[in-house]
Amino acid sequence: MPSVILKAGKERRLIAGHPWIYAGEIDKITGDVRDGDEVDIRDSKDRHHGRGLLNRKSQITVRRFTTGKEELDEAFFRGRVEAALAYRRSLGCGDAYRVVFSESDQLPGLIIDQYGDCVVFQALTLGIEARKPWVIRIIKDLLKPRAIIERSDVHTRRLEGLEEAKGVVFGQTDGRVTVVCAGLRLELDLLEDQKTGFFLDQSDNYREVAALAAGRRVLDCFSYHGGFALAAAVGGASRVEAVEISEPAVSRAKRNAELNDAVGKIEFNCANAFDILKKYDKEKRQFDMVVLDPPSFTRTKQKVDDATRGYKEINLRALKMLPPGGVLATFSCSHHIHWELFRAILVDAAADARKPVRLLQTLTQARDHPILPAIPETEYLRGLLVQVL
Ligand code: SAH
Repeated sequence: MPSVILKAGKERRLIAGHPWIYAGEIDKITGDVRDGDEVDIRDSKDRHHGRGLLNRKSQITVRRFTTGKEELDEAFFRGRVEAALAYRRSLGCGDAYRVVFSESDQLPGLIIDQYGDCVVFQALTLGIEARKPWVIRIIKDLLKPRAIIERSDVHTRRLEGLEEAKGVVFGQTDGRVTVVCAGLRLELDLLEDQKTGFFLDQSDNYREVAALAAGRRVLDCFSYHGGFALAAAVGGASRVEAVEISEPAVSRAKRNAELNDAVGKIEFNCANAFDILKKYDKEKRQFDMVVLDPPSFTRTKQKVDDATRGYKEINLRALKMLPPGGVLATFSCSHHIHWELFRAILVDAAADARKPVRLLQTLTQARDHPILPAIPETEYLRGLLVQVL
């Protein structure tokens, strides 16, 4: 078996459970091996640290799949997907859920989401790209979908030397499905909507918002298909406004309102949430609940300061609109905005707004998106549910 030999001392992260080997940590690569192939991982003292898939074009040159010595063949991949599925079934995941979440299921580079009788997958690395026929066969056997869609249209594929790819790879579908997620009926276009179709990671948090929504005037900013707005309406909010910049997302949200008997309860506003928050702040508008779920403001460590200013601005404006007893559900989906920083931003915003808050609940990604403490990158969705005192 070809091997990747690490420089002295570079095995520590692997031993701690983090499965990536960066280009700069490699002393040499032995044997005749192509990018995408399987390699043994050895340290400078020739100790074995498992097996992974190689891609010299990527800064993350090896991703480890096992700490053992088993062959990374189709049976191995099938076993990993079976284990991932067994865990989701134990959670009682319904119609729409994440079956495989990359490193969190010891399958780096592979995402599989089920949406009713259709399945969507993403191949994020060359190692997975090279094994797509296995992935498709395994999905067919274990999930028996009507159709399988590939949504590898993500820019990070370029870091692996890959082009983006998207399309129906098995069965027939126009991409349209209707599913139930967190008790909400949702119509999705799995070929055109953002991500693999929906933000499944928020599904547990809709329930928390719904539980507090009764009788409140709710503002849902960055609302995409209206997940939080719908949850609030179904939870008995007195009225809801959903702000979202993407026209297709707003159309979908309107359709979802029909499917959930929420027409007339939700006002849809296709606009820039920054502008709306500024405007409502100036007009001294009041709400009893605000949800802030913006896209990631930073994908790199270098931009954390800019991102911090962005989060501060929206949280400050939202807090100013809330009377005592008002609730803010605020999220960050940037892995680089750690808990301590996110809390500090909120405290800072609360101080400037003269709105002291208490923490009702800490929120995170749904349990079908497991977090591995040894792999900080697997924890990215952070939410604080707070109430103005
Ligand atoms: N809350 C949503 C997910 C939000 S994802 C849910 O539960 O499904 C972030 C959303 O913000 C995306 O739909 C994106 O189109 C939208 N967005 C990005 N920039 C925006 C802006 N400046 N104003 C309003 N919406 C924006």
